[in-house]
Amino acid sequence: MTYASPHRLTPEEEGGPEVDVIVVGAGNAAACAALAAREAGAGKVLMLEAAPEAEAGGNSTYTAGAMRVTYEGIDDLRELVPDVPDDLVAVTDFGSYGADAFFDDMFRMTQFRTDPELVEILVRQSLPTLRWMREQGVRFQLSFGRQAYKVDGRFRFWGGLACEVWGGGPGLVEMLHAACARRGIEIRYATPATDLLRDDAGVCGVMVATPEGRKAIRAGSVVLACGGFESNAEMRARYLGPDWDLAKVRGTRFNMGDGIRMALEAGAMPHGHWSGAHAVGWDRDAPAYGDLAVGDNYQKHSYPFGIMVNANGERFVDEGADFRNYTYAKYGREVLRQPGMFAWQVFDAKVLPMLRDEYRIREVTKVTANTLEELAGKLEGVDPARFLQTVRAYNAAVQTSVPFNPAIRDGRGTEGLALPKSNWANTLDQAPFEAYAITCGVTFTFGGVKVSDRGEVMDRAGAAIPGLYSAGEMVGGIFYHNYPGGTGLTSGAVFGKLAGKNAGRHALSLQTA
Ligand SMILES: Cc1cc2nc3c(=O)[nH]c(=O)nc-3n(C[C@H](O)[C@H](O)[C@H](O)COP(=O)(O)OP(=O)(O)OC[C@H]3O[C@@H](n4cnc5c(N)ncnc54)[C@H](O)[C@@H]3O)c2cc1C
Repeated sequence: MTYASPHRLTPEEEGGPEVDVIVVGAGNAAACAALAAREAGAGKVLMLEAAPEAEAGGNSTYTAGAMRVTYEGIDDLRELVPDVPDDLVAVTDFGSYGADAFFDDMFRMTQFRTDPELVEILVRQSLPTLRWMREQGVRFQLSFGRQAYKVDGRFRFWGGLACEVWGGGPGLVEMLHAACARRGIEIRYATPATDLLRDDAGVCGVMVATPEGRKAIRAGSVVLACGGFESNAEMRARYLGPDWDLAKVRGTRFNMGDGIRMALEAGAMPHGHWSGAHAVGWDRDAPAYGDLAVGDNYQKHSYPFGIMVNANGERFVDEGADFRNYTYAKYGREVLRQPGMFAWQVFDAKVLPMLRDEYRIREVTKVTANTLEELAGKLEGVDPARFLQTVRAYNAAVQTSVPFNPAIRDGRGTEGLALPKSNWANTLDQAPFEAYAITCGVTFTFGGVKVSDRGEVMDRAGAAIPGLYSAGEMVGGIFYHNYPGGTGLTSGAVFGKLAGKNAGRHALSLQTA
């Protein structure tokens, strides 16, 4: 790892700050930071976006807008979504998702490694932060489409994820950017930050690349909110390991690890799971980077209702180990480990109506058949004889006496298989059969820099680097191994708001010093 010294100001570049706060990035974390900096009193806040305007907003734009938030019941949810009709409330079990449940999920998913100080902030600030986003102009809705099942006439929410942004990721970024515009915050597109500026007092601006050449922009403080290194094949191979360079990238092509590099060069402490990443099953023929016209629909997340087989015709994970929200982010890595880095998801007619919308898009790698033998011949790259053996053994092991219920962990598993399926097991025996080819799609990387409970970037000696703040994907120490769905946007908003507020205050304190 390099520990170069950041750009020192030349005599021509010296002088007072041109802006109070620079926010590097224009995704969810960056926009929340910029809005919070303005709210804290910073007069001039500038956002720098590496992407051109048509691709602005980073991974946040590619999301479905699902946001994990604590709630004790419908009253908390109504603070975010006031217009839920009473007749819908009457037929819905929203359950609750209190702080304890969120903590439990974070500890369980991360194998008890999540940074205690950061997770405390994430969980406790989730609901207040979403309320604040609403005040800023972000609109929410309840996730009936993806996070509730109708069983015996009642909707039942599952997996702790009841809320999403109106209009998904594109809606979120549009509403946040509109809020920034209303508050006079400029977003400068196609203007990547390349280096931090430093003087004796700390970080005091950034260098940017412009068509006219490199340029210094001085500021009272800088918030780095410019994503992880998931878009950078070289860094993926270096930190995540062999073959990660070959994974498809689910989102933006602009998160090249620049912010992490700049912070490390300024002496930041690396933190978190540097060899870990959020990665999912993603259409085998999807393009190398995300496509905003398709959004997150290359993902294939109904595997809990079927089986997944590899090139050897064998299952390789417990597809029903838990709700999709708690397994999908780690199963991409399992697909990457299979021969040829691919798998097929197989379903029969019984569950086809339950497949998520993403299975019905035009850009899908799919085969159909009327018999299992016919299907075996169509699964490109798969050993057909071994596949048929796998299905026969699986069918014989399904405990059909246990009722199937998608809204709970129903315990309808297999018996006697070396690799069990624990819930939602259904025999594969009713035509037509459908199969979908997937590979590994990387979402974002887990490793990053250490931040304080004020969003300051910490150095290797444990002191805050004056003037430097960070938020979003590039904060390390929150996610390890796995991830509860919908937490990335919440984390970006919570830590973006925190970093922006303190960056704003820092910039103001320089003016009064
Ligand atoms: C397909 C997909 C679906 C997802 N669905 C969900 C979901 O439903 N719910 C959820 O919680 N999470 C979801 N996620 C994860 C979520 O997108 C991230 O956790 C979150 O958006 C990260 O926010 P961020 O602001 O840190 O990064 P980003 O939104 O990626 O923003 C980073 C910004 O920095 C810019 N940038 C990069 N380098 C530079 C530079 N040198 N100079 C200037 N700017 C730079 C980028 O262009 C971008 O604007 C999904 C991700 C993907 C890819």
